[in-house]
Amino acid sequence: MPRILVTGGAGYIGSHTVHQLRTQGFDTIVVDDLSKGHAASVPAEALHVGSIFDRSQLIEILCGERIDAVVHFAAFIAVGESTREPQRYFHNNVSGSLALLSAMSEAGVNKLVFSSTAAVYGNIDVSPIPEDTRYDPANPYGETKVMVERVLHWLDQCAGLRSVRLRYFNACGANPDAGLGERHDPETHLIPLLFRAILTGKPITLFGDDYPTPDGTCIRDYIHVDDLANAHIAALKHLLEGGSSDVFNVGTGEGLSVKEVLAAVERVTGRKVPHVIGPRREGDPARLVADSTKLRRALGWQPVRSTLDDIIRDAWTFETRA
Ligand code: UDP
Repeated sequence: MPRILVTGGAGYIGSHTVHQLRTQGFDTIVVDDLSKGHAASVPAEALHVGSIFDRSQLIEILCGERIDAVVHFAAFIAVGESTREPQRYFHNNVSGSLALLSAMSEAGVNKLVFSSTAAVYGNIDVSPIPEDTRYDPANPYGETKVMVERVLHWLDQCAGLRSVRLRYFNACGANPDAGLGERHDPETHLIPLLFRAILTGKPITLFGDDYPTPDGTCIRDYIHVDDLANAHIAALKHLLEGGSSDVFNVGTGEGLSVKEVLAAVERVTGRKVPHVIGPRREGDPARLVADSTKLRRALGWQPVRSTLDDIIRDAWTFETRA
């Protein structure tokens, strides 16, 4: 079986992907500095605690473990934080990726699946969004991903690095059977914060209800983290079979507003969500919905667990586990 290195594999999407990879028989090694991730989310024997900036450790792992391909998750991910601390985001997400790419080049590993984001599109007026839409990020986080995408384009052209860039829409849900779910600190994502409001009684703030959408709240495309994990496996198989570099959206194609998600959480949990309406959050586009036709056609991927009710049920089961 191919041997895969996963950076940031102890994080939310990373750990679900590692679980799926190992379930499907891939030998999988994780490098994670545990600044955000959780050691308990990956099997102890697979975990190397370390930084993607540590070039010599990476080269040692890539060569010593005879790695065939890398899945690169390790990055900061909070849109709002990126507008307050842009330098930290550019350093960690861009320089960190360059350090990893340099180590891969030195070790002769030339296949990469890269965590990109719908935030590369920003405030564009297209829905659903196909991959050939121009870059227009609305925040530094999205810009960091654009920059790495550009680097990957040129390393493909000039240095033989084959990469698949996966542009995630809104990752959510959990795999409670595997003990995996969303545990960010601080938590910034909608569904866990809706749960927190239920469990603490402290109202969640909905960021703006004056957007040009039917109910005034932002519209997003919510994709179950296990469906997202499977997109990585499809992308890896494509590269390992000699496929060329490419870019794919990963979403369902269905847009849901913040208020619709809140209503679904109330329906599935049977609990009221205390909430207030607040101002818009800086850097939030009104509508981000994927056109995922390309991924479905080219790699045969399709979402199987991404109805909103399944997403909320899995996430709630994880959240309220004993
Ligand atoms: N959101 C909100 N209140 C919160 C957190 C998020 O109203 O406390 C909204 C946010 O403005 C966006 C949607 O929920 O429209 C999804 O936000 P999230 O941070 O989960 O993901 P993002 O779209 O930023 O990747």
